[in-house]
Amino acid sequence: MTNGSEGKVQCPCGRTINDASDYKLLYLKKEQYEIDILCPNDTCFLRELGFIKFAVEDNNLKILKASFYPPFVTWNVARLGKEKATQMLKQHLRDIINNQIDWAKIREGAKKVAEEEASRAASES
Ligand SMILES: [Zn+2]
Repeated sequence: MTNGSEGKVQCPCGRTINDASDYKLLYLKKEQYEIDILCPNDTCFLRELGFIKFAVEDNNLKILKASFYPPFVTWNVARLGKEKATQMLKQHLRDIINNQIDWAKIREGAKKVAEEEASRAASES
């Protein structure tokens, strides 16, 4: 079977994911500090393939947890083998964190939220 997805990460819906830029990223409400990793296929039955949770401390961003969900991982382990799938998915997560996420924008948003909270607290007291 050669359909172009051989040796590549794939979503259970059949969509081949060539590299980290293929994923869709969904920035959840900034207060929650979570980014959902979505399948690029709009009609995917799984949709959410993973997530990245982070914290903002003194204007520094810290990754708390980055992970793909079990159905996506299991699917790729079955196709590529555990070692290769684990390695490729880890690389994808790293690429998403390092290259795909607009951290400057997030930092800016977090700063705004903190400022709003500070001014609200000030006006309440
Ligand atoms: Zn999919």
